Amino acid sequence: MTPAHDLDAADPLAGFRDEFVIDDVLYLDGNSLGRAPIASLAALSAAANQQWAQGLIASWDSWIDLARSTGDAIAAACLGAPAGTTVVSDSTSINIWKIAAAAVEHRTGRPDIVIDVNDFPSDRYLMAKLAADHGGQCHTLSTDPVEGPTAAQVASALTDSVGLVVLSHVNYRSGALADMAHITKVAHARGAMVMWDLSHSVGAVPIDLATCGVDLAVGCTYKYLNGGPGAPAFLYVRDDLIGALSPSIPGWFGAENQFAMEPQFSPMPTIDRFQVGTPPILSLSTLAPAVDIMQRATMGALRTKSLALTERLITLADQHLAELGFSLGTPRDPARRGGHVTLQHPDALRISIAARQHGVVGDFRQPDGLRLAPVPLYTRFVDVDEAVARIASIVRSGDHLSIDANTRVT
Ligand SMILES: *Cc1c(COP(=O)(O)O)cnc(C)c1O
Repeated sequence: MTPAHDLDAADPLAGFRDEFVIDDVLYLDGNSLGRAPIASLAALSAAANQQWAQGLIASWDSWIDLARSTGDAIAAACLGAPAGTTVVSDSTSINIWKIAAAAVEHRTGRPDIVIDVNDFPSDRYLMAKLAADHGGQCHTLSTDPVEGPTAAQVASALTDSVGLVVLSHVNYRSGALADMAHITKVAHARGAMVMWDLSHSVGAVPIDLATCGVDLAVGCTYKYLNGGPGAPAFLYVRDDLIGALSPSIPGWFGAENQFAMEPQFSPMPTIDRFQVGTPPILSLSTLAPAVDIMQRATMGALRTKSLALTERLITLADQHLAELGFSLGTPRDPARRGGHVTLQHPDALRISIAARQHGVVGDFRQPDGLRLAPVPLYTRFVDVDEAVARIASIVRSGDHLSIDANTRVT
């Protein structure tokens, strides 16, 4: 195995680490909350101390188009989507509802929805309610918890009543990367639309929404995009569908002639129709500089380094952790995985807490997963080696056994 120092010395992305606030912690949880870009903190400070405190209401001149321009930046840097298809607004959970409800309403006579039993809770809860509200069924795919959904499984659930398929591009637990192009094609062949949840893939793997013909997508900005806690999410609607979908939550920020305050809602002709109310400007202010980092690093280079990091992590886990009771909870095939690696262990919760106490920050996901994300913008190869060494040492010495596992946030 090539020494980690040599890989770091030859890493073309190494300089990006200096654009983040870095401490001594081996932070492998950037898929849950990305590290803070220094430029984002400066933008947040400017938004608060200059634009708000001094500019006050006059600052709306620069704020009014921020949700749209930030959406365009995300689309260009990370989504393979043209300008005018993506807008930043609300949370991912809310956006799932907004555009899925608009889609189901649009597909008269096809109220059924297909989801994945292993998908994120919001996605499953929301689609169960949406289908029921429209007198439809929610078909839940029994996918493999590690390998994720396949095109054949999706095909087998499609009927003439299914109007919408909702899936995650990268599974939040196992990191399985779904075949977006193939699954979208299979769904379209049976007349269903597809909504991809990109929360764990945006900024982690290259995405090509336009080439795949994806109908709808949503995703988080506080994970691999490093927008900060609670940064607003984005939503994408394919350009030829925008005018056909009526906003399910009609608010004044989606209205044509917003300041005419008209008696009836008439939606903007653009993607802005899916905005609802006043954007959270302070949270939004961090995003443009964060996305600019992705644009400069390029998703291709980030993916190359990400795969090298996860491959090394898996190899080291095989060598040093398998004998301590760990097994791989992520697809072994690099083409089938996103940016994080999940290691399964019966005592994963206590190990993840003990690891944090020893400066290795990953997280725990039910039922037995220790998730580790070596985010390529700010993680070095030496960090991967050191993290595995510390986890091995914790489990070998039994340090985790004295931990009280009662915690609300994992
Ligand atoms: C993180 C995540 C979300 C989070 O949604 P919020 O509304 O921001 O809490 C949704 N879906 C998936 C797949 C996620 O990984």
